[in-house]
Amino acid sequence: MKRSLVKNLLRDTIAAFTPRNNTDGIRILTYHSVSSLGVRAEDFSGQMEYVKKNFEVVSLRDFGNLYSKKAERPLLAITFDDGYVDNYDIAFPIMARMEIPFTIFLVTGFLGEVPPKESNLYPNMRLLSEKQIMEMTASGLVSFARHSHKHIDFSRSNPESLEKDIAENKRCIQQICGRAGLIDCLAYPFGRTPKDIIDKMDTDLRYAFIVDNRVAEFYSTYTETLSISRIHIDSQDNGVRYKWKLGSKYRLVSSVSRRARSILGKR
Ligand SMILES: [Zn+2]
Repeated sequence: MKRSLVKNLLRDTIAAFTPRNNTDGIRILTYHSVSSLGVRAEDFSGQMEYVKKNFEVVSLRDFGNLYSKKAERPLLAITFDDGYVDNYDIAFPIMARMEIPFTIFLVTGFLGEVPPKESNLYPNMRLLSEKQIMEMTASGLVSFARHSHKHIDFSRSNPESLEKDIAENKRCIQQICGRAGLIDCLAYPFGRTPKDIIDKMDTDLRYAFIVDNRVAEFYSTYTETLSISRIHIDSQDNGVRYKWKLGSKYRLVSSVSRRARSILGKR
């Protein structure tokens, strides 16, 4: 436990003194399902073509080094939350054809099953099976990271059940993905951030992601890396709207709103 804290401190120190190439930040897109309930397959395919043409698409596996990565085009990463089976059936073949890496923040408590209603996941949709997760991991294109075991609301859980859920989610990912599992990355379920609790009980955690529709900046301190911005993409984000969300004007609006919020004392 202590070792990872020292490691984090060391990385922060190195990061603070390393010249940054990517002052433009990184767009991290959040998808859920590629289906009639989420983003339709043909729209998703078109979006990936656009992304591939206009951005340097990177994996969150390299997040710690991205701030100094030399890139001709702006950085962008693709993520999915929950781990619906269509991520394998529909998204994976499209991404494999285009060679685009992506990360799935996985709910591990209902693998291969249709989750119960109280989990607040998409209704009547099966989650990925262990076999599918293993196959995607073996491709080297897909990384699996944490998104709670039972998809509980971290901001409302008591410390004991939160600690249990976190441990179980980590254990499952390690067991299925081995060393390839991204146990240092977590997307908070429902995007809510109980930083103070998590930080104390989870020393494996290095990067935690929220959804606030802003372009993520590269941070130098550990605390700041526990609320990294992501941009939500849903069925409404087609054509012009999708391009606007990924464009430089959106980035400007996003950074102005971040400043304004920090002046007003809100996050
Ligand atoms: Zn979720």
